[in-house]
Amino acid sequence: MSDSVRYLSTRGRAPAATLGEAIAAGLAPDGGLYVPERLPVLDPSRFDAQGSLADTAATLLAPFFDGDPLAAELPAICAEALDFPVPLRALPYRDAQVLELFHGPTAAFKDVGARFLAACLRRLPRADARPLTILVATSGDTGAAVGAAFHRQPNVRVVILYPDGLVSPRQAHQLGCFGDNVQALRVAGRFDDCQRMVKAALNDAELQLAVPLSSANSISLGRLLPQMSYYAHSALGWWREHGTPLNFIVPTGNLGNALACLWVRALGLPVGEVRLACNANATLPEFFAGHDYAPREAVATLANAMDVGAPSNFERLRWTFGGDDAALRQTLQAESVDDASIRRTLAAHAREHGEVFCPHTATAVHLLDRLRDSGDTRPWAAVATAHPAKFEQVVEPLLGHPVDVPPALAAMLQRSASAAPLAAADTALKHWLRERAPA
Ligand SMILES: *Cc1c(COP(=O)(O)O)cnc(C)c1O
Repeated sequence: MSDSVRYLSTRGRAPAATLGEAIAAGLAPDGGLYVPERLPVLDPSRFDAQGSLADTAATLLAPFFDGDPLAAELPAICAEALDFPVPLRALPYRDAQVLELFHGPTAAFKDVGARFLAACLRRLPRADARPLTILVATSGDTGAAVGAAFHRQPNVRVVILYPDGLVSPRQAHQLGCFGDNVQALRVAGRFDDCQRMVKAALNDAELQLAVPLSSANSISLGRLLPQMSYYAHSALGWWREHGTPLNFIVPTGNLGNALACLWVRALGLPVGEVRLACNANATLPEFFAGHDYAPREAVATLANAMDVGAPSNFERLRWTFGGDDAALRQTLQAESVDDASIRRTLAAHAREHGEVFCPHTATAVHLLDRLRDSGDTRPWAAVATAHPAKFEQVVEPLLGHPVDVPPALAAMLQRSASAAPLAAADTALKHWLRERAPA
């Protein structure tokens, strides 16, 4: 392990880990998040201009895998996980781009991280022969992506926690449709409750002895790292063609997607400005406006996958800027987009241009509109995080017509679905896990 990259906890009270150990553990033992000892610096000319997304990912992630037993498998992991298109599509108006991340099996960007994490875990040796239980708290899209990525994989069980009534009907159906080794629990609470319950279970050493646990939340490095690929790939493509960096507007909840974009910039690749588009949950916009960081309970919005009051990757964001909040505030901006603006943006773009977005993507498109209205002419890409068909209850009344359902989503909606109820208490999940330990 001497010349391999070491992973440390953001809280600094956990032993250094290899990448494989960090991926297998999810959360560091001191409750912090794993980060590399330092971010590498990459030369844009190292990337193959003709390469696929998977090729870009393999070059990009090689320094993070350096010296790890998984390194030899990295090209295969990338090819397996990143096997669907992630197009940077020019909008026929506004002189802007949309980076479409929703062409995977569950129609949201979470497929990238979930499939990569699954491809890594499949290859990691485990000392314990008992089945591994992967816990995932979801505000809607993560759970389905993780369920799909691990469905029917031997010796793995996935337990999904989602806030009952706070995900869209199609999201709920997706979460409950897998069966076999994937179990959905609908929690009588909010997403932050689900997330806290998962953290509490993972931090319970005694429970871990009885039921081997891991996590697949955006705190997992195995999800965060591959999300850098599509930013690197699209920004490099743009830079080769136009000679300028590409700026991104990222719909943001737990900050996993936006952090991946910032890390790509920190590696020296041609990413320009990064703006965070938040919904009415204003923890980040208030922090960036100069207030103290104040995590709080989430409120429900139309962009439900971003209903986060305590963004789990905030510790990693602070680490990225060396704990210097002033530097962080100078580099990044975050803005809140309320439900009324989401609705207006969806309706206006559909009516005037025939473009249909999901409510999360609409927060980014709204900020793009504001930039253009204020005279900003720089190249921007709004990041499209999910397919609008997952949120038909929000989108269709504003369009006045149905949204086409992508085939993979249609197939999931045909299956039957079920989820077990669970109280929003840490002990309720721990009890459930002990009672239902996999055979
Ligand atoms: C998860 C999700 C987000 C928020 O991403 P974070 O990485 O949590 O910031 C935005 N849009 C959609 C559709 C999502 O599923």
